Amino acid sequence: MSEDLMHRADARFEICQESRTRTHIQGPKSHFHSSFRAPQHRSTNLARNLRKRQGSLIFSHFRNSKLYIGLVLPVPSVVMPSDFPETHPPLPTDRVKPPQPSFRDPASHSYPGLHFTDQLHLDLHLDPTSKTITAKAFYRFLVLDAASEVLTLDVRSLDIDTIRSPSHPDPLSYTISNESSPIGGALQVSLPPQLRVTPLQLEITYTTSGTGAPHPAGGAMDWLSTSPATADAPFGFTQCQAIHARSIVPCQDTPAVKAPYSALVSIAAPFDTLPIVMSAQRVPLHQGDRANASRFECNVPIPSYLIAFAFGKLEWRKLSSRCAVWALPSVVEKAKWEFENVEQMLQVAEEVAGRYVWGRYDLLVLPPSFPYGGMENPFLTFVTPTLLSGDRSLVSVVVHEISHSWAGNLVSCQDWRHLWVNEGFTVKLERRILKRLYGSGREGLDAIAGRQTMNSFIKSLGAGHKYTSLVSKLEAEEDPDDYFSCIPYEKGYSFLSWLEYCVERETGEDFHEFLRTYFTKNRYQSSTSVDFIHLFKEKFPEVGDKIDFDTWLHGVGQCPDLAPVDTSLVDAATDLARNWLTLFVEFPEDSEDAKSLIEKNLRVRPSEFQKWDPKQKLCFLYELRAGIDAAEEGDEVNWNARAARIMDTLYDMGSYRNSEIRFAWVRLALLAGYFEIIENVKEFVSSQGRMKFVRPLFNDLHKVYPKGTLAKELFATVKPSYHSIALKMIERDLSIEHS
Ligand SMILES: [Zn+2]
Repeated sequence: MSEDLMHRADARFEICQESRTRTHIQGPKSHFHSSFRAPQHRSTNLARNLRKRQGSLIFSHFRNSKLYIGLVLPVPSVVMPSDFPETHPPLPTDRVKPPQPSFRDPASHSYPGLHFTDQLHLDLHLDPTSKTITAKAFYRFLVLDAASEVLTLDVRSLDIDTIRSPSHPDPLSYTISNESSPIGGALQVSLPPQLRVTPLQLEITYTTSGTGAPHPAGGAMDWLSTSPATADAPFGFTQCQAIHARSIVPCQDTPAVKAPYSALVSIAAPFDTLPIVMSAQRVPLHQGDRANASRFECNVPIPSYLIAFAFGKLEWRKLSSRCAVWALPSVVEKAKWEFENVEQMLQVAEEVAGRYVWGRYDLLVLPPSFPYGGMENPFLTFVTPTLLSGDRSLVSVVVHEISHSWAGNLVSCQDWRHLWVNEGFTVKLERRILKRLYGSGREGLDAIAGRQTMNSFIKSLGAGHKYTSLVSKLEAEEDPDDYFSCIPYEKGYSFLSWLEYCVERETGEDFHEFLRTYFTKNRYQSSTSVDFIHLFKEKFPEVGDKIDFDTWLHGVGQCPDLAPVDTSLVDAATDLARNWLTLFVEFPEDSEDAKSLIEKNLRVRPSEFQKWDPKQKLCFLYELRAGIDAAEEGDEVNWNARAARIMDTLYDMGSYRNSEIRFAWVRLALLAGYFEIIENVKEFVSSQGRMKFVRPLFNDLHKVYPKGTLAKELFATVKPSYHSIALKMIERDLSIEHS
């Protein structure tokens, strides 16, 4: 079957497959004609694509008022995205306010208060064989201080060829300093007097380095070699958050700078026909553009960390008129099923947060080495294939990424100290959307699970640790990745929930109405905690007077207060967890038939447990873990290999493919010393590289498993398939020298 043709046909047509190369489109004549008229861009695509294939058109005729077209198409090695929607209503082009002249982002060498990126165009030629990018970047800067003789950009592992300006006849001189800094080097460009005025235009020609190295240190680009996991073609993708954009383009790599951007991207032969996707709108090629290149535009100003692209043997499936999913052929149908409700989620998100300004919302399912759950790249959320659980139970990650369309992408944190401005607001929106979709019990489940995660993180570091404050204490030239934790997410959510509770209790007003105002007022801008507090105090002066903002924002350790949540589903899960732990205290080790005794005394029968929402099962496992951890401080519980084995038998724990449940279960089993699950762990860490799962599992194996070398041996075998960011973190965890 030619998928290529299926995408071009209007959905109203019935498509029937005759053979691998021969396809019928069947539909009423009037429908066929209307599909050519509206919408205009779609008919143009269809007509153009049919023209492209005209040599293959073998017949077309009407019979019984139906039009029949038969085509013989070659079986393509890849499905080109030429039929993907290209044009959309124009996006807003609001201007961004530059920061104060004295502003510095500790994780950037740039001075955005002196020069401010106003427009960026990238011309990228990707070579999967040498694992390099040959590129030209074109910039337009606002000059905010005419006395400034030097423009400073962030770079990491880039070979700069030339720097030119159309307003100056000679190449500009430059130096690169601080190259060994954890935040990369500072590219300092000398500006002759005639370039110290707006608009300052520059053109930098450069190549990314790290040739042949599978994981160039600190790089944004992950080059995956041809393997069955990549559908037997090279696959590449970027991950620029937090400070990795500087490894693919010299830039003011700080979220304080937001600019519209465009790009022309091509791939070197023989891979030049592989589809390319990007965090921008796909637009038609210009005259003179390289053949097989793809052109993109993003007119909404975005920070550099949201620039993203990927290539590979990708296919796409339509989810709605504005949503689609891209994935490798082996999982694309599974992905289509899993994400079928994305349009509904987007609509609820708009009800909660306001108008969706970005036009399209597409998803890209990455190969298993993607180190995160999802990345909110605008227009095109990147997600881990571990979300494809087959039961749609993990799509809340997509709700999280959709929520970033307002929190983070529309209103961005000004620098990484204020990451909670992105993540805390996103979690708040995410849980409000899930509450609308699934009820308040679901919000309670997520909120309590978040608190548990946060509490164990704070406990593991100690309540006085600097990583536990909401506004991070990131210092100059420290890597923001080191501060990445649940704190901006969960403490941020708890803070906003506390404000919501106080506002609704004392004024009866809808806090989410205020959040909508906040997003509208600050849209397209970068914002700090202070900006938010200022707006809050302006709107709710009396409530604001009673809140200890300083402790919330800068205090370390636990949250000062916690808002009440709906705990009905959590209570049932907690009760069952206590039930399990108590049973093991009551039934001695030498009990003859512990399994049947336990089964009889469980307050939730195994058959009932199977019907629980996966999130509630997860809550049960986390409650069990919390009870065991608390027991180490003196309570009487008994969690051992025998208990874990009985739970495995009764609840069939080994069968779960929902990655969150599987993760929580194997950690509990390792803690119990129930090592029958070790093959499950090996398979889990070998089949994906999501840091949320693999880092704690390697840590557990390192600490818990009796053969102390297993963690390092296993890591050595899975290493080639992991992303450089995950490698860096696990090597640090296991005290392995970075190679
Ligand atoms: Zn997020």
